[in-house]
Amino acid sequence: MKKNPSIGCTVSSCQYHAESENYCTLQQIMVGTHEAHPTQVECTDCESFEPKA
Ligand code: SF4
Repeated sequence: MKKNPSIGCTVSSCQYHAESENYCTLQQIMVGTHEAHPTQVECTDCESFEPKA
């Protein structure tokens, strides 16, 4: 899978992770939140995440 140099990512358990390098392989991702009023980095999520099969 070809990395997208614009999207760094360390979530190696995601099926879209570039594996050999800390990048995502998608053309774009969606970032969202699970909080009503996000105030810190832990409040944000990559909503494009899919677990490895
Ligand atoms: S989809 Fe999200 S979690 Fe998965 S590799 Fe890309 S940026 Fe990381």
